[in-house]
Amino acid sequence: MCGAEQKYVNNAFKTNWIAPAGPNIDAFEDSLADFIGVRHVAALNSGTSAIHLALILLGVEHDDEVIVSSFTFCGTVNPIVYQRATPILIDSEPDTWNISPELAEEAIRDRLKKGKKPKAILPVHLYGMPANLERLTDISQKYDIPLIEDAAEALGSKYNGRHVGSFGIIGTFSFNGNKIITTSGGGALVSNDKKIVEKARFLATQARDKAPHYQHSHIGYNYRLSNVTAGIGRGQMEVINERIEKRRENFFFYKKHLSGKEGLKFTEEPDKKYYSNHWLTTILIDPAVTGVSREEIRSKLEKEDIETRPLWKPMHLQPVFKSCPAYIDGTAEDLFTKGLCLPSGSNMSDEDRFRVLDALNNCLEK
Ligand SMILES: *Cc1c(COP(=O)(O)O)cnc(C)c1O
Repeated sequence: MCGAEQKYVNNAFKTNWIAPAGPNIDAFEDSLADFIGVRHVAALNSGTSAIHLALILLGVEHDDEVIVSSFTFCGTVNPIVYQRATPILIDSEPDTWNISPELAEEAIRDRLKKGKKPKAILPVHLYGMPANLERLTDISQKYDIPLIEDAAEALGSKYNGRHVGSFGIIGTFSFNGNKIITTSGGGALVSNDKKIVEKARFLATQARDKAPHYQHSHIGYNYRLSNVTAGIGRGQMEVINERIEKRRENFFFYKKHLSGKEGLKFTEEPDKKYYSNHWLTTILIDPAVTGVSREEIRSKLEKEDIETRPLWKPMHLQPVFKSCPAYIDGTAEDLFTKGLCLPSGSNMSDEDRFRVLDALNNCLEK
């Protein structure tokens, strides 16, 4: 927390706006719209609910298919199943680790041949690295399939100078406790289309029709953000640029001090079009070169009280999604085997970072 959050939370108490409506929500939505460069924002209670509403708004229903990145957190894919639709899992491209445009297009062609047009393309900007939005936008237009961006991990990341989350017809964000800014739990659905965001707010508040009594002609959800926790988000937005700066600093620190090491690789911005918030600094460890596996390094660091984590385990390798159609070339599985998320908090001191570095160097030298 930066301090400003408390003031807005106190305001909610003082004014008695302890509800999923109120001035903190309005102000948080405005600051997000301003920052991301989109016209409309609906603040919600999680990133997962934002994705769920996005799918509903695009008409994804029972037996529909959605093209989605396999290399992601389950929060991207679960909402497809909430709609009783089928995730079509796509492997990663090696440079950004995000959905491979080639495999996505191959999958779309194959699904069309099988007589089914996918209802949406759902790429993820994983660890803050933008997906290849140029190619994905092209594919979306060429096949006339709408794009939803899961930008849960990528607030502040840009592609061609434009914020991710603003390319698709809908973008979604998360403010869960682990993300670059937080409302403890929360999310947002963003769009330049006013009707979409108005409908998202409607569905998120139990789809109450305009009537003096409670009248319902749609199934709704209780997905709105609280005005209390929106106060946290409002304060966090005052320091978003500093938070991005700190995350990027972590990345450049690790890279500077580890880039000479053989068998270690960083995910880097492939070219000038990409700007990552570097939410987490992630490395690949090639045990054939280093002589130690990702798991050996992780458990050694854990003994030193340094928490690191494997990368997301791809969805096509998860028991719950193993029967989903998948277009796979082995990239994500290889990333999962070799990859490690390093400590990347916005509050890391130089001393913290050098401690991680020394411990990591020790693992690599033995
Ligand atoms: C965190 C996250 C989500 C889900 O967000 P919640 O707010 O936790 O529901 C979805 N996709 C990705 C890639 C995430 O990292």
